[in-house]
Amino acid sequence: MTDSAGRLTVITGPSGVGKGTLVAQLLQRHPLIWLSVSATTRSPRPGEQEGSSYFFLDRPSFERQVAEGGLLEWAEFAGNLYGTPRQPVERQLAAGRPVLLEIELEGARQVRHSFPAAFQVFLEPPSFEELERRIRGRGTDSEEAIARRLERARVELAAASEFDARLVNGDLLQALAQLEQLMGLAA
Ligand code: ADP
Ligand code: 5GP
Repeated sequence: MTDSAGRLTVITGPSGVGKGTLVAQLLQRHPLIWLSVSATTRSPRPGEQEGSSYFFLDRPSFERQVAEGGLLEWAEFAGNLYGTPRQPVERQLAAGRPVLLEIELEGARQVRHSFPAAFQVFLEPPSFEELERRIRGRGTDSEEAIARRLERARVELAAASEFDARLVNGDLLQALAQLEQLMGLAA
């Protein structure tokens, strides 16, 4: 395995495009990669675990983290706050481990400024209709949350050209192979 050491990679793209699914496959094949666990004020979905899916915080605790400079980046998304705890990322990078962030657009833009050397990949759906099908098919969001996510998706998709690489998540295995190639990982 030739996981590139100590490099920060950001995967972004609209909600429902398949970031989580693709990242899970990538980690299974490249266990050296360290995936950051974000903090969020969103409520846990069924099956999500505190500390491995997210650190679930109430708003005052999240805001305290922001005030103390504990987050590398953070953003509001569809009515909830999300952010990357700074220390663990810095520690893993210092230890030479490849680090992966799976975050939305505003956060990715912040990382572009704070870590200009980070490699940023934008994941795109084959079509907007397919994106909507995937969000609905996931079956975890209320109708109101789906509407907010789709509205936000239009804004995010318009920003695709800002990124180092764009990747269409049509066939999952094909997207995985392309991501491995982009990240310089041995298949
Ligand atoms: P995100 O993390 O970007 O919000 P998810 O990984 O939760 O997206 O994927 C949203 C839905 O789309 C899930 O039900 C997932 O199984 C499905 N999905 C992901 N990738 C693909 C793909 N390449 N083809 C078809 N369905 C996919
Ligand atoms: P979800 O509620 O579907 O888990 O996540 C909603 C969006 O927030 C997704 O686009 C996801 O990538 C993004 N997200 C998750 N964690 C973070 C984070 O730490 N920072 C930012 N900026 N976005 C995040």
